[in-house]
Amino acid sequence: MHNKIERILFTESQIAQRVRELGEQISRDYETLLGEKLSREPLLAIGLLRGAVIFLADLARAMKIPVELAFMAISSYGASTSPSEVRTVKDLEIPVAGRHILIVEDIVDTGQTLAHLQELLQARHPASVKICALLDKIPRRARTVSIDYVGFTLAEDAFVVGYGLDYAERYRNLPYIALLKQSAIRS
Ligand code: 5GP
Repeated sequence: MHNKIERILFTESQIAQRVRELGEQISRDYETLLGEKLSREPLLAIGLLRGAVIFLADLARAMKIPVELAFMAISSYGASTSPSEVRTVKDLEIPVAGRHILIVEDIVDTGQTLAHLQELLQARHPASVKICALLDKIPRRARTVSIDYVGFTLAEDAFVVGYGLDYAERYRNLPYIALLKQSAIRS
């Protein structure tokens, strides 16, 4: 284990298993909803940079349906662990009117990021917008967001890293999701 890690919450194999299940569930749901239309109108999975990149890379390969990938960046946390204002840093390069969108997010905390993104995308008249989040951190939720697909629920207000999630841009490449030691967090 990395020497800055306090405790592993979800292991590499637990994550792999859950991502496989999510991929299968999402594939089944969109097959039911769209059937053969999917070959003409693939699902558009929008990953949020940079935290969701690793999750989306695995999730996309667990999906059995045609899917296109796109990326957006919404600013939330800087180099610290306290919330800041939400704004679009990198927008989509393609139109989404009439598309079926699946937003893929690493972790939902206050819900501000997703609320902002949902408003932004809905205004562009997509056919549908659903949300898939690897982690649903419930204690600090300030905006009501309905998450369609959740990997794992975090009942405690803990700051987690790994599997795409960073602290000051570090630890994204850890294969597991874990708590940092207090000594690794700058106050
Ligand atoms: P929200 O807008 O829901 O408060 O925050 C969502 C964003 O905050 C996530 O996409 C992520 O970038 C960041 N965030 C929230 N909680 C954590 C956490 O426990 N660990 C890390 N690394 N980032 C987090």
